[in-house]
Amino acid sequence: MKISCGMCEGTGKYWVLPSEKCRSCDGSGEVEIPSPTTENSEFWIQANGKSYKRSGEGGSGKWLLFVNKNEIDDTWMKIRQDTIDENLGSSSKVSTKRGWLNHGMPEDYVICVHTPNCKDREDVDRVRHRLRELGFTGQIGYKTDEATARNLDELLYKE
Ligand SMILES: [Zn+2]
Repeated sequence: MKISCGMCEGTGKYWVLPSEKCRSCDGSGEVEIPSPTTENSEFWIQANGKSYKRSGEGGSGKWLLFVNKNEIDDTWMKIRQDTIDENLGSSSKVSTKRGWLNHGMPEDYVICVHTPNCKDREDVDRVRHRLRELGFTGQIGYKTDEATARNLDELLYKE
């Protein structure tokens, strides 16, 4: 999937010597980023906010979004950009074709929208609110990273 080059802001010009081509996109103004349904070497694709912080005091966790494979590429583009713009949590990741093949997940891919502190209810709710604005109005679950590490299915919140 192609997006506008962030280095030259789509102009294709090198910011140091504008007479030369941008070295990030080679002058095309666009860069290729991996899509969940075609990524075949990594199990996950991750996006980080600019002030990315993996874990906070109470331990990190994530809202889980299960998305059909027909919609996952477009949905990930939205979540990815909103994560980079810091409207969501600390980071987000999506399962890929490779993960899908290995785990035999039926039709759904999963997006994890992380927050740094699962006990910070205000922050967890803020991210849930933003996900509603992005169209995730049905009930979704929040799981702590500790539960994932211990292989437990339990959800901390369901909203
Ligand atoms: Zn460029």
